Amino acid sequence: MTKEFAPLYVVPTPLGNLKDISERCREVLTQVAWVAAEDTRHSGPLLKHLGSRARLLAAHEHNEVEAAGQILAKLEAGEAVALVSDAGTPAISDPGARIVARVREAGAKVIPLPGPCAATTALSAAGLDDAHWLFYGFLPVKAGQRQKALEALRELPYTLVFYEAPHRVLETVTDLAQVLGGERTLVIGRELTKLFESIHSLPLGEALEWLQGDPNRQKGEFVLLVSGCQATGNDAEAERVLSLLLDEGLPVKQAAKLASAITGAAKNALYDRALELKR
Ligand code: SAM
Repeated sequence: MTKEFAPLYVVPTPLGNLKDISERCREVLTQVAWVAAEDTRHSGPLLKHLGSRARLLAAHEHNEVEAAGQILAKLEAGEAVALVSDAGTPAISDPGARIVARVREAGAKVIPLPGPCAATTALSAAGLDDAHWLFYGFLPVKAGQRQKALEALRELPYTLVFYEAPHRVLETVTDLAQVLGGERTLVIGRELTKLFESIHSLPLGEALEWLQGDPNRQKGEFVLLVSGCQATGNDAEAERVLSLLLDEGLPVKQAAKLASAITGAAKNALYDRALELKR
């Protein structure tokens, strides 16, 4: 006989504006027996605000495997559980994926509810018209690893979506410009859905100065979106000419300038590429 489990609901919660909770999320959070929360102290007030009397259990990145076992036991006992993170959608740069996998493996139903997510909220107002986008989330904290990660993304013709904390935004924007090229468009989505929400577009090469121009621009929560790599038919030719000039012993700056004049490719991008080829 197959076991009868109660379902696990995956429930997005507001990024900052409590009115962003959907009718369905409210209903689930007030009807389930248990809410598995990334931080029970953080989610307690939200449940109270919604009038939910569900009991809380902790499910954070350091106890996810153990929490999955606890959640499964509740589901097996016929008690429905809702999984929430501190803000936005669980499992999107947040714990949840391992819990969901374990619950599905056991044969219980996982019911996802749509709702707030910082990445899609920022994308919807970014005005970047690449046909595709790639969600990266948080870049590595160490500069070397971060630059390496960015190098792997450089040629992709997709809008790149990053999450970043305020104390790292300056260094990340510096690396974005250096590795991806200053001509690409950056959209900075800050404090989305909150009182000081701002969405600002500018060339990547101007971003550091803009952020440093006002300390308030460095505060809060950030989504950084970078327009995709604009590959042109010229790229292969530009690279060939650049390599030839470097092989002839021309200095990086001069080689980039000449290759740009010959092929029409962007001088800055060629300069960055020449530095790389030299390395
Ligand atoms: N699961 C969440 C989601 O669905 O977006 C993301 C959680 S992740 C731990 C937190 C990061 O999301 C923040 O550091 C920031 O990069 C981004 N974020 C969350 N709320 C935001 C907001 N109101 N405005 C801009 N970015 C936000």
